[in-house]
Amino acid sequence: MTDTLLATDVSALDAADPLAAFRDRFHLREGLIYLDGNSLGALPKATGDRLTEVIGSEWGEGLITSWLGAEWSTAPRRIGDKIGRLIGANPGEIVATDSTSVNIFKALTAALSLRRERTLILSEATNFPTDVYMMQGIEAFSGGRVKAVTVAPDAIVDALTEDVAVLLLTQVHYKSGRVRDMAAITQAAHEVGALVVWDLSHSAGAIPVDLNGANADFAIGCGYKFLNGGPGAPAYLFAAARHHAATPVLSGWFGHARPFEFEEDYDPAAGIERFQCGTPPVLGLSALEVGVDLMLEADMAEIRRKSLALGDLFIELMRPLCDTYGFELVSAQGHAERGSQVGYAHRQGYQIVQALKEFDVIADFRAPDILRFGLTPLYLRYRDIVETVERLEKVCATRAWDKPQYHLRAAVT
Ligand SMILES: *Cc1c(COP(=O)(O)O)cnc(C)c1O
Repeated sequence: MTDTLLATDVSALDAADPLAAFRDRFHLREGLIYLDGNSLGALPKATGDRLTEVIGSEWGEGLITSWLGAEWSTAPRRIGDKIGRLIGANPGEIVATDSTSVNIFKALTAALSLRRERTLILSEATNFPTDVYMMQGIEAFSGGRVKAVTVAPDAIVDALTEDVAVLLLTQVHYKSGRVRDMAAITQAAHEVGALVVWDLSHSAGAIPVDLNGANADFAIGCGYKFLNGGPGAPAYLFAAARHHAATPVLSGWFGHARPFEFEEDYDPAAGIERFQCGTPPVLGLSALEVGVDLMLEADMAEIRRKSLALGDLFIELMRPLCDTYGFELVSAQGHAERGSQVGYAHRQGYQIVQALKEFDVIADFRAPDILRFGLTPLYLRYRDIVETVERLEKVCATRAWDKPQYHLRAAVT
């Protein structure tokens, strides 16, 4: 394929892209190619105005009356219902609240409360670290009654025994982008009487998810990645309606049936509200809601189709660089198994990601050697993919990565 041919093909793809108009709804600096929206989504243009309104009018003028007057108190449930429309949950099955890590704790302990006779929490060894750390914390807190067990990624189904209370899995792997079959694994777990907590951090807003179609028990995920909710945005927790009798271990007053009765004893709310803990973070929720509303305007099937097309183009254009410079594709080529990111292993991965920033491309690095390129169809164009590979080729050809400052690992990668 010649450069001109490619340029023509790509501009035709951009011109015909049904999602193209969404790019203008985001603040993106001219010239920058942002391939890290799977780690921190871009800023929707509407977020600033919404926050100004919440701060100036709702907080500044309305003060405490805004808990009811501006519907702050019901925001976790309202935004949860909106997220539910993106991931196949019914109204009343999701709250937007707390961080993903805290929600992992809440979902795991809720599942344990429904399987009191069982002792194991199972996951894969290469899961996102916080998921496994939270399991280990529960083991420590239980005094050893509950055990956190991790196995190799391909050994999960075989490790499902009748001792397993709950399986914690991330649907789209944070490094490789590999997609798990949610319905099949949930079914395998249910066959031995285990429950499943799905981590959707790299799924919601990235691929079509159908929680109730997969008969899912619990799920949690991030608000600041593909949902574009802003740095440290509140996360969300899904509990299928049939599990709303689970006992919340983080039994804070916002999960109480009647928080403003100030009763002496804890009595959890009947529905999903019992999975709230403390006072909702209103500013964070307000920014999250803008991101979720924007995502709801787009057709998820189109998002998926474009994400796969961007990934296919990227993989195709990277082939010569793999041969010449030793990149090794770690994401699946098959569509069913690939999320909305493409990863490559390279020995100088960290340095290359740093050097790419000089060329105005932001990707990220995940230890020990993975370069991760997040594909966000709402604000990426096909020509950004062509440009990225051209700039990457420059970094390699000029050895721009081989500078002393890039050999020191920064605290946040
Ligand atoms: C990003 C991510 C998290 C982040 O958890 P926080 O509590 O928001 O820091 C957790 N799990 C997975 C799989 C992730 O990708």
